[in-house]
Amino acid sequence: MAVSGSAVLEAVLGRIWASPRIVEGFHALCDFGGRFAGTASEARAQAFLAERLSTIAPVRREPVPYRGWTRGPARVTLPDGQALAAHALVRSVATAAAGLTAPLVDLGRGTPVDIARAGKTVRGAIVLVRHEFMLGRDHVHRRRKYDAARAAGAAGFLIAAHLPGVGPVTGSSGDGGAGHIPCVGVGFEEAARLAALDGRPVTLHVDGVFADAEATNLLATIPGTGEALVVLSAHIDGHDLAESAIDNASGLACALAAAEALADVVPDLPRGIEIGLFTIEEWALAGSEAHLATMPEADRARRVLNVNLDSVAGDDTLTALTSGVPGMDAFLRTALAPAGLSVGLHPGFMGNSDHANYLRAGIPAFRLCAGFERPGSALSLLLTRADTRDKVHPHQLKTAASVTAAVLLAACSGAALPPRLDMATIARLTSG
Ligand SMILES: [Zn+2]
Repeated sequence: MAVSGSAVLEAVLGRIWASPRIVEGFHALCDFGGRFAGTASEARAQAFLAERLSTIAPVRREPVPYRGWTRGPARVTLPDGQALAAHALVRSVATAAAGLTAPLVDLGRGTPVDIARAGKTVRGAIVLVRHEFMLGRDHVHRRRKYDAARAAGAAGFLIAAHLPGVGPVTGSSGDGGAGHIPCVGVGFEEAARLAALDGRPVTLHVDGVFADAEATNLLATIPGTGEALVVLSAHIDGHDLAESAIDNASGLACALAAAEALADVVPDLPRGIEIGLFTIEEWALAGSEAHLATMPEADRARRVLNVNLDSVAGDDTLTALTSGVPGMDAFLRTALAPAGLSVGLHPGFMGNSDHANYLRAGIPAFRLCAGFERPGSALSLLLTRADTRDKVHPHQLKTAASVTAAVLLAACSGAALPPRLDMATIARLTSG
């Protein structure tokens, strides 16, 4: 497209807005189900994504060996014999067939401070903590609670949804190795029943089967005229409770739409785009970690920026989680101004998506997400059965894709990017 910069921008954003394609892609991904890694649902989504990517550029399938796991049933049985529904956290250790019987200790929110305050009562107990809205400044991640509980000697771990009517919450825990404990999500209502039993014994049953498995990252490159690449990433996998629509069918649909809109523009620009669709993100970011760990240093050096799309619809606000990367705010403002767009900018480190692995590799990175600091938004429904497509409006997908495309266009056109991160900067940014 040999036309002026503003005409290119208008053409690229027009392709996103004047087509139903992004909405169709989003619905197709939701149709496959929650895309839990290693399931037929994920395999169908992978095939669809590979097909769409192949219309942009040749697709590279990157195998990632990992310790796979198949979820079995879980329940919590009360002293009166009533069984409450529960959902094993990813890679929970299984209990013995007779279950794990131990006193229930309600730790409230269950932060590491709460757990320290509870002292010796945690040892040998089945602890109950609360999930919380994940896209906020004060969020304490489930894994920090889980790690603190097992370090304090807990025998079992229950995490409760923080909202009524959405069933149990899910998420990752450990890798099922030595020192890990059985852990499940429960619903808000079940937690209320359990909290009333504080100090009395309950029995936890969890089943699940571990087996070595292989996941697949999908990669495709639209080369520019030079060596440098801007990485556009989104995670493929989700959870088996629902459609994982916001998290992260929204990010996948936007990544495809932005890349498609730019596909015939980028070959004339100084920097190219690498599209990285990573899996087992919900398993402690394992797909992108393996991708970067095996990458030769010279190849890492070519990658100058990571734009990571994770949960980019479900609310009308968009925020770039920049982790305080020096120069990122200025770059984003400059990149979005020609389109009359802007996003919120949050400098705190949020390590719960694939951009964290790019930062650790020294590559300036940010995550785009919707609903930051909006606990009343649909983003509060992530990791529950309520993360379904009806929470997402077409204009939210198109706005997120437009922001993405405008940022990529500026970066590929040669805009000044944040500098690479040295070891001291990486340590400072990721310690928060
Ligand atoms: Zn996600």
